[in-house]
This record gives sequence, C-alpha cells and structure tokens, in this order.
Amino acid sequence: MNIPQSNLSRIVIVGGGFAGVNLAKTIANKNAQVVLIDKHNYHTFQPLLYQVSSSGLEPDSIAYPLRKIIKKHKTSFFRLAEVEQIVPENNEIITSIGHLSYDYLVIATGTKTNYFGNKAIQSNSMPMKSVPQALNIRSLILQNFEKAAIADTKEEREAYLNFVIVGAGPTGVELAGAIAELKNNILPRDYHDLDPDDMHIYLLEGAERVLPPMSEHASKKAEKFLTKLGVKVRCNTVVKHYDGSTVTTNSDLKMESETLIWAAGVTGAPIQGLKAEALMEKTNRYNVNQFNQVEDYPNIFAVGDIALMTLEDYPKGHPQVAQPAIQQGKLLGKNLLRLIDNKSMKPFVYKDKGSMATIGRNKAVVDLKHYKFGGFFAWFVWMFVHLMSLVGFRNRVIVLFNWTYNYINFDKAARLIIRPFKK
Ligand SMILES: Cc1cc2nc3c(=O)[nH]c(=O)nc-3n(C[C@H](O)[C@H](O)[C@H](O)COP(=O)(O)OP(=O)(O)OC[C@H]3O[C@@H](n4cnc5c(N)ncnc54)[C@H](O)[C@@H]3O)c2cc1C
Repeated sequence: MNIPQSNLSRIVIVGGGFAGVNLAKTIANKNAQVVLIDKHNYHTFQPLLYQVSSSGLEPDSIAYPLRKIIKKHKTSFFRLAEVEQIVPENNEIITSIGHLSYDYLVIATGTKTNYFGNKAIQSNSMPMKSVPQALNIRSLILQNFEKAAIADTKEEREAYLNFVIVGAGPTGVELAGAIAELKNNILPRDYHDLDPDDMHIYLLEGAERVLPPMSEHASKKAEKFLTKLGVKVRCNTVVKHYDGSTVTTNSDLKMESETLIWAAGVTGAPIQGLKAEALMEKTNRYNVNQFNQVEDYPNIFAVGDIALMTLEDYPKGHPQVAQPAIQQGKLLGKNLLRLIDNKSMKPFVYKDKGSMATIGRNKAVVDLKHYKFGGFFAWFVWMFVHLMSLVGFRNRVIVLFNWTYNYINFDKAARLIIRPFKK
C-alpha cells in the first residue's frame, strides 16, 4: 500500500465518518503515523442525505474529500480501499488494495441498512445510507413524476405518485416532510398536467408514535406538522412485503407504489477476523470498554456507531448518532497519544447535547435535557446546528445559499435526473 516505514507507532483508522475524521484530526502531526482508509474518497454528512434525495441540495455540498482533511499533515496518509479482514495475530489488515500492518487499529466503519432478513424488501426498496443511494432516490422520484405525467389510467398514475417511507425516526420524518414540500410547492408549478391530489406520501412506523427515540412532546408536534403538510402517518404499521409494486403491511393497509424508501433501521458494519465474542450479535456492534478498546484486543479499538459501550446510564450503548461518534473519536485520539507515551487512558463520558428533527421548510422539534420545543424557532436552531456541523467552509456557504434560495423561492433547484435509476 506504499505507506513508508517509520519509527513512529502506526495507527490505522478504518472509516472516514464522524468518528474516524475527528480521530484523524486529533492525532495528526503528533507522535504517530496515521493511515486513514475508506471505501469512499469523501466524508458523508449523513444527516443531510435526505435533502439530496429530495432535490434540495447538490450531493457535493454534503460530501468532503478525505485527503483534504489530512493534506497538511506529513505523517498522515489516506488510502481508498475496502478493508476486508483483520488478522489480529499478525497485527495486520487485508484490504482491496493489499495488506497493511498496524500498531493500533481503530474500527470506525459505522452501520449499514438493516432489512431484518426480509429479502423482498432488500431487493425492491430504496435505502438511504450513502450519497449514491440518495441520488438514486432523487432520480427515481423525478422519473416517477415523468412517468405519472404520461400514465394512461388514474391507478397507474397514483402508483407512480404514491411515496411510501418506512420508519418514522428522524430520517423518515425529515424525508417525508421534504417530499411533501415537493408535492405542495413543485408539483403545482412544474407539473401543471398532474393533479397534486393524486400524490400521496405515506409514513409507516412499527412503533406506536413517530420519532420513537425522542420525547412524546417532539413526537406529537412532529406528527401534527407532518399531517398539516399532507403526509399520511400510520403508526403500529409494519411492512411485511414489497415486490416493487405492492406494499403489504401487518394491517389491512395495502397500496400500490413504485417507490418504497427504507429508513427503518441500521445494523453495524463489522469487519471479519475478530472472534465472535467481540461482537454483539443482535446489533453487529463491537463490545468495547470505556476506553473504546474491543474486548480481549488491547490494541484494537472501535468508535462511533459500530462501538457498543454498555454503561449504567446507557445499558443498550450510546445512541447511534453523530455526537457520540465525534466525542469518542476525539477522546480516543488523545488516549492513543497517551498510550504511546506510556500514560493511562481516560474513560469516555458522553455529553448529550440533545436531539432534533426538521419537518418541511420551516418547522422542527428539539429535545434538550431540560427544555423541549418545536416550531419555527426550533427550525432555526436545527439549521444553525447542521450548518455549523458540516465539514468545510465551502460546503457551509453553498448549503446556506441553497437554503436561502429555496426558502425565498419555494424551490428545490437540484431537480435533475443526471444518472437515471433502473429498478
Ligand atoms: C440518513 C441518515 C440521517 C441521519 N441523521 C442524523 C441526524 O440528523 N443527527 C445525528 O446526530 N445523526 C444522524 N444520523 C446518524 C449519523 O450519521 C451516524 O451516527 C454517524 O454517521 C456515525 O458516525 P461513524 O463515524 O460511526 O460512521 P459513519 O459516519 O457511517 O462512517 C463510516 C465510514 O466507514 C466507511 N467504511 C465502512 N466499512 C468500511 C470498510 N470495510 N472499509 C473501508 N471503509 C469502510 C464508510 O464508507 C464511512 O465513510 C443519520 C444517519 C443517516 C444514515
């Protein structure tokens, strides 16, 4: 892999997500050689993927080149590769571009979409975990609008205009709101040959309320905002089967739809090679101690979504959201430098900064530890937090410009089928 030998300890980080990037930044230009490996050459800001799917933002504005993050640091290297296996006996990894030895290995591979073993749903639904997948959804939505415009019958037209989103966590709620904005603001103007009343957006949730990880206050408000936008919210509804045309649920709700977006869950994306006990089978997350050390492997660490640190306050591990990943990445960076200096590591303590979700063009719900609120001000807070969390000044400027433009013009300017999606 052409990584030079040096006297410095080599820290190999697999995954340039929130955890991996924050770790790589913390240890750059310090007493270690850093090798960051990712199967993409960019960092993805996943919280805004839904805006790419719904034509609100161009994909480039939520992605950031990983090489740019480490470019100034002479002891840091990036390799574009998929890590296929860990060989802990040899302190080595096997990747799609060759083998590499490590002194310390950090697994920061995040999660992948969980279909809960349903092969039909896996084959026919649209996941939204990466930029290419978000672009597939964008193309499919726009292609379906075009097909609806030339459909011969009302039934056929409605199948193209029925959009089913499964999972009413923050991702599903935000996407449903954004697609409703397409119906309310874009369809009447761009597609005057279509009747917006023929378009239906269903948000299906297996739990008894939307936004199950958030407070009941947030949940009630979000459902109210969604319903006002025209989204048909159905809780206690589990999708059982989808063959690409017909959606079958656990109730008598059944519908024809050419688009089913699967936002119902994730599972860890582990790498082969460690013994079975290192992994919590149900969630595919590595069991780690308070220093993010994988059980029984003193020089292998896991951070972010892939790490399961069970503590009294977090018996099921930390929530799989950006903040634990960022905080663990930063602390592990400091801890690895302490280890190299023969100092003891500091345990991880999560600082919960709250959670939020936006609904449509000017509403959001925010849960802070002692204060919960929703509406326009919450939306403002949501915008500010997301803007400031984006990686790269250029991306922040572009996103701010797009949001302002879209807000003033009731527009979603990225309505382009650049790469048609074939079902
Ligand atoms: C659609 C969506 C919306 C979300 N919205 C929010 C939100 O609003 N707020 C919030 O806090 N959180 C949100 N999250 C969750 C948040 O994005 C994750 O918690 C966070 O990204 C976890 O960071 P991570 O570094 O652990 O993993 P990730 O950010 O997933 O990064 C993992 C990286 O590892 C790479 N990788 C994986 N396997 C390999 C391999 N074998 N070889 C090489 N590279 C590999 C991947 O390419 C990726 O770059 C959302 C997630 C999704 C999918």
